[in-house]
Amino acid sequence: MTGFTMTIDGQSVEAPGTFDVINPATGDVADQAPDAAREQLDQAMAAAAAAFPAWRADEQARRKALQAAADLLFAKSEEIGRILTLEQGKPLADATMEVVGAGVWIKYFADLELPREVIQDDDAAFVEVIRRPMGVVAAITPWNYPLLLAIWKLAPALLAGNTMVLKPSPFTPLSSLKLGEVLRDVLPPGVFNVVTGGDDLGAWMTGHETPRKISFTGSVATGKRVAAAAAPDLKRVTLELGGNDPAILLDDADPAAVADKLFGAAFMNNGQVCSAIKRVYVPESLYGDVVDALAAKANAARVGNGLEEGVQLGPINNRPQYERVSELVADAIAKGARAAAGGKAIDGPGYFFEPTILADVSDGARIVDEEQFGPALPIVRYSDLDEALARANGTHFGLSGSVWSADAERAGEVASRLECGTAWVNTHLALAPHQPFGGFKWSGVGVENGPWGLYGFTEIQVLHRSKL
Ligand code: NAD
Repeated sequence: MTGFTMTIDGQSVEAPGTFDVINPATGDVADQAPDAAREQLDQAMAAAAAAFPAWRADEQARRKALQAAADLLFAKSEEIGRILTLEQGKPLADATMEVVGAGVWIKYFADLELPREVIQDDDAAFVEVIRRPMGVVAAITPWNYPLLLAIWKLAPALLAGNTMVLKPSPFTPLSSLKLGEVLRDVLPPGVFNVVTGGDDLGAWMTGHETPRKISFTGSVATGKRVAAAAAPDLKRVTLELGGNDPAILLDDADPAAVADKLFGAAFMNNGQVCSAIKRVYVPESLYGDVVDALAAKANAARVGNGLEEGVQLGPINNRPQYERVSELVADAIAKGARAAAGGKAIDGPGYFFEPTILADVSDGARIVDEEQFGPALPIVRYSDLDEALARANGTHFGLSGSVWSADAERAGEVASRLECGTAWVNTHLALAPHQPFGGFKWSGVGVENGPWGLYGFTEIQVLHRSKL
């Protein structure tokens, strides 16, 4: 019997069945998670709806509860981090930092103003624009940053006065179950519910009559299904979807100086980051040096079980993703790409893959055109900057991108021509609670973080008091 239970109406709840959660570093079963029955989802939704009136009524209580929630995460960061490493694979230090980061995010929102703007105050009327909560939010998360991405939803949604039902990915449910358990001490029953199950549980949530808002992070394909499921009921949606982020080096970039940052932003979390660098465009004159510098970093990276000291990159999280990365790399090599580093899976148990730098590869190869979401980075040559920009933009994705140069002014001009939600100069993956994050085109609808993320969990209400 699993030690992990769901949280429904503030109670610890088991399900009629369980499913296995695999430790990607060993391929063994790490633990079991409850497989929620449909009636249990109904109960979670009903609990969230019942908790809404009291929760929305007391802003100070909400801020206090969020502060307490953040403090709990700081205090338990190692304990929850260990669970995260077991189910997700990332090194323990990174997992612990994810929990600490979640606490930092909650603290930011706990202090964020809920604006009440006076837009008219004259002899005729006193008119305010107020942000009202929506009701129950259905939150659905992926497996790469299960805890942090849940908090990106929880903190603003709860601050605004909504209540929530969270469903994590079936690959990484344990840390979210633990989150529900920990927060039972500081949140009133029903305000935050956690249910676990397979993909069908997600579909039940998006089709459920109770939630007024769906906040979803995951793949483009599922995001489209979520949007379609929300449409008949006109549920509000925020969709944070996939990316195929380009990094463009200008001809004055210094390969030795940028290689460290490029490698870090491509291989963070073993490349399983929505806005990681997924393809690098390099001018002909710098091409060999950039490939060599990145290959040296890849060859030096220590890959292993995230529980071992000094490991930098863990396994790929799950078998389907491991097979997908293997397939995209093999396809590129079969079509003439050169593995300057890595190029294949690592023998033995677990879903380990060599950190891979692919040279002599270009647009048209699947690994350049599609989102690989793993530890393999294609380096593409260009001879004309406008053409490189056109190739960088010539995709359905539009999450983020970066431009690298000794001349930040010039790089800024180029970056402003990228068609994506975040355009970085001489950095990539610089994310912060106050900075809105979202995608153009198929990479998403709406944003998370900052006041703009908070507004996504509210409806605008005009309160018009006539003086006539
Ligand atoms: P996924 O779309 O397969 O699954 C995401 C979640 O949706 C899971 O909880 C899953 O159980 C659930 N789900 C599956 N089918 C559903 C349905 N029909 N209705 C409702 N929910 C359903 O994505 P994944 O493989 O877990 O995550 C990887 C993807 O997430 C990548 O494409 C990555 O780029 C993207 N991602 C985006 C961001 C961002 O902020 N933009 C952040 C992290 C990951």
